Amino acid sequence: MKRVALSKIGPLRCAWCGCDDIRALEVNHKNGGGTKEYREIGPTLYRRIINGTRGVADLEILCSPDNRLEWLLRRFPDLKGRLTVTWAGAADPTREAP
Ligand SMILES: [Zn+2]
Repeated sequence: MKRVALSKIGPLRCAWCGCDDIRALEVNHKNGGGTKEYREIGPTLYRRIINGTRGVADLEILCSPDNRLEWLLRRFPDLKGRLTVTWAGAADPTREAP
């Protein structure tokens, strides 16, 4: 379900660092509000993306560290350029993503 939902948003990689390990990828609400949406509607984001009842224009795919960094930068803009996440690539490039 995660792979299908993320595929509706864009290529299966972090928009910021290029991480392509699906285990580390998450949906980011570009304008914030992800926690509010979760509290109001519950854990249905992937299902709503897949069935088309939830648009994706305000969503992007980020790795978990970049998703936290994005939150930090919205809260503390002065950190911009001072914190980065680096994706070193898959440990085993022949490994099939789950
Ligand atoms: Zn990333």
